[in-house]
Amino acid sequence: MHIAELLRKNLTAVRERIAAAAARCERDPRDITLIGVTKYVSAEIARELVNAGVTSLGESRPQELSRKRDALADLPIDWHLIGHLQRNKIKLLPDQCLLHSVDSLRLLTALEEEAAHRGIVWPILLEVNISGDAAKHGFVPAEMAQPIEALHSCPHLQLQGLMTMAALEGGCERARINFHALRELRDQLAVQHPQLPLQELSMGMSDDFEVAIEEGARLIRVGSALFEGLPDDFATA
Ligand SMILES: *Cc1c(COP(=O)(O)O)cnc(C)c1O
Repeated sequence: MHIAELLRKNLTAVRERIAAAAARCERDPRDITLIGVTKYVSAEIARELVNAGVTSLGESRPQELSRKRDALADLPIDWHLIGHLQRNKIKLLPDQCLLHSVDSLRLLTALEEEAAHRGIVWPILLEVNISGDAAKHGFVPAEMAQPIEALHSCPHLQLQGLMTMAALEGGCERARINFHALRELRDQLAVQHPQLPLQELSMGMSDDFEVAIEEGARLIRVGSALFEGLPDDFATA
């Protein structure tokens, strides 16, 4: 099958899954943004995905994000950094990019410094380690007061919401518990800090985005489901 045709077929299947999940919880599917995670594929394949209609793309590494962004500069794309960010890579970030994985106070401070230096405002999400998994990055739910307090002195960062990854083990039902907990945490913070814009919830990947939508996700990060069936030589990680 031709690459473009395969991507269209995969995209249709993903959009149908989004629509079905949204219908189950009476949400408008237009409130859910599909972020195509292109970390597995080349810029050429990412271009085909954009041509098929996905205009939000996510990458886990700043250097790869910049590389694809340059290669696809002629296309209107909203870029998302979804992976753990090392402070020494901040300089590689483009000015316009939603940062999903802000996971420490040190990173917040370093991002603020760079954004102030550039004279820009970066939109950010705070990553929460909701599953309590020791291997996962993110703020501890009980300690969210720390980054929220720190953001008072970060005028060049604009908080938009929260992000999480579900526990690796336990399948969709464990994921549902994690996503539900993130939403509750967001709702609780919104009551405590009514001035904070916390509308975005970034949660759900290929295997669990339906439960994420049912639990309130507004940004879903989908990679493998979009690139299924692609010959290996096209997938250059
Ligand atoms: C790779 C990745 C995804 C996409 O995962 P799939 O299971 O391939 O859909 C989503 N979020 C993050 C943070 C990732 O690193």
